[in-house]
Amino acid sequence: MVYLLDRKMETTATEAQDAPPPTPVAEVPPRPPAIQSEWVKRFLHILIEPRAYLTALYLLIAFPLGVTYFAFLVAGAVTGAVLSAVLVGILILVAVMVAAWGFALLERDLAIWLLGAKIAPLSLPNLEVVSTWEMLGRHLRQATTWRSLAYLLVKLPFGVFATAITVALLGPPIAGILVPTTRLLAEGPTPYTFSTLIFPGVFSVLGLALALHILGLIGRAWGRFASDMLGVGVAERQVWEARRRAEAADRSRRELIMNVSHELRTPIASIQAHVDSLLLPESVRPDAEETDRRLKVTSAETRRLADLIEDLLMLARADTDDIKVTIREVEVGPIVEQVALAIQPLARDERKVTVNYEVASTAVWALADPDRLTQVLTNLVRNAVNYTPEGGVVSIRVPAAGGAHVQIAVSDTGVGISPADLEHIFERFYRADSSRSRNTGGFGLGLSIARELVEAMGGSMSATSQVGLGSTFWISLRRADPH
Ligand code: ADP
Repeated sequence: MVYLLDRKMETTATEAQDAPPPTPVAEVPPRPPAIQSEWVKRFLHILIEPRAYLTALYLLIAFPLGVTYFAFLVAGAVTGAVLSAVLVGILILVAVMVAAWGFALLERDLAIWLLGAKIAPLSLPNLEVVSTWEMLGRHLRQATTWRSLAYLLVKLPFGVFATAITVALLGPPIAGILVPTTRLLAEGPTPYTFSTLIFPGVFSVLGLALALHILGLIGRAWGRFASDMLGVGVAERQVWEARRRAEAADRSRRELIMNVSHELRTPIASIQAHVDSLLLPESVRPDAEETDRRLKVTSAETRRLADLIEDLLMLARADTDDIKVTIREVEVGPIVEQVALAIQPLARDERKVTVNYEVASTAVWALADPDRLTQVLTNLVRNAVNYTPEGGVVSIRVPAAGGAHVQIAVSDTGVGISPADLEHIFERFYRADSSRSRNTGGFGLGLSIARELVEAMGGSMSATSQVGLGSTFWISLRRADPH
């Protein structure tokens, strides 16, 4: 019908444009056979679909399963209720609940495997360790528990229907296919055995396809019911997810407070000891040179604390997605040069480390915040200098290679980082060499802040290293169109 209508409209449109003689609808080459053959193909295709037979199997075993659940649960519940005055009755009721849970799990798996149903988990993982009794209590308060119990009881009447209809629909066509086939095999090819291949043979094949379609419809409808009854509801999942996120945030806050208190303890103790010693009576006070040294230590520690506060503020901003980055097209070469030149004198004089830089001859442009990029690069180069022994070399490279990203590599010939440490290097407060840097170096926040900043610019950071040979830190930024 639709086809004829379409053709008619096409013809009318053509008429309007070129006014050719009207084409009678009847003369249109007939396409319906193609549609029919497509329909027949689709109708028969079910015969080779494994899912159709799995669904039939599911429906066939629905009755024995339904009757087992029903008998077990009802008998258990009645016995438990009758004996509930004594402990054994309660234990029976608990056993019935556990068995019901097991049956529900089995039913969920069967519906997934055989019907191809999509079902959420029966329960959500406990966010904390709880006792068996508490677990049982939660289990009883959960809506899915009662929904799945109702499902198990409904499975019996459904099973009666499903198994009966499966046998009724599949029995005749299967017999109609098997009988002529066995006869042909047993009696050999005769006009009679051949004729039975056509009737009932061919009709049985059609009947089998029809039966599988009907069973498929029943299976899909039941699969949807199973998914509503055996899976955790969307609202429950959302509440669980919100709770999980709140608890993770709470845990991370507690960890942060613990780490910060721990980090503050050493410098504050050091400042206090030095200042106290300068407040001693004049007779026991250190001499001028020692006083000067102690004041310098106090000043250095105070500066470290100020840096820590800055880092913590930055992390707090990162946690509230409040890091301000102004991303624009930036030429990377001059920034690399500026950072290298700024650190070179200090690295050479204080640590006898050479800082090189190497930028591609053609300008490389990236999408970044120039101030933040300078901050990140400075941090990486400072680290590289700090963890490289005298005579070592630190180099910053910007390979010109094309692609969607610009890479900046900061390499050193320093102590390197072990594979176990490398996994955690970007975590907050993580220090690979705690004994070496705990009292004098940073607080293990530099790299985590650097990564947050690079990610805020739409890029990423990574590191490779070999113990004793050195490390390379990579910044990858989105490439900007060349100017
Ligand atoms: P910190 O301020 O303590 O250096 P970072 O987050 O910058 O903190 O670095 C974390 C740890 O990573 C450092 O304590 C150090 O152990 C290790 N590290 C960082 N950069 C290098 C490097 N270039 N070579 C070797 N180890 C490094």
